[in-house]
Amino acid sequence: MGLAVAKSNVAFTLHIRCVNCYRESVKCVEVPMVDDAPLDTDELMESAYLDGVRYRCGSCEGLAGQIFGISGGLR
Ligand SMILES: [Zn+2]
Repeated sequence: MGLAVAKSNVAFTLHIRCVNCYRESVKCVEVPMVDDAPLDTDELMESAYLDGVRYRCGSCEGLAGQIFGISGGLR
């Protein structure tokens, strides 16, 4: 008792390569734990959630990145 219940989010790490300068970067995203939230990397790839993730290259400030790997999730 007395401990606040942590807000449940599912954390993923996106590995993104800039399509302009090919610099690789890592972006951490958290998905709210809702009924149809993606819980693993496969579900995240299939979901529309990634469409809403904004990316900006830290090197050339390009806005187009290609996701080549995802880690994290609950499973
Ligand atoms: Zn770039």
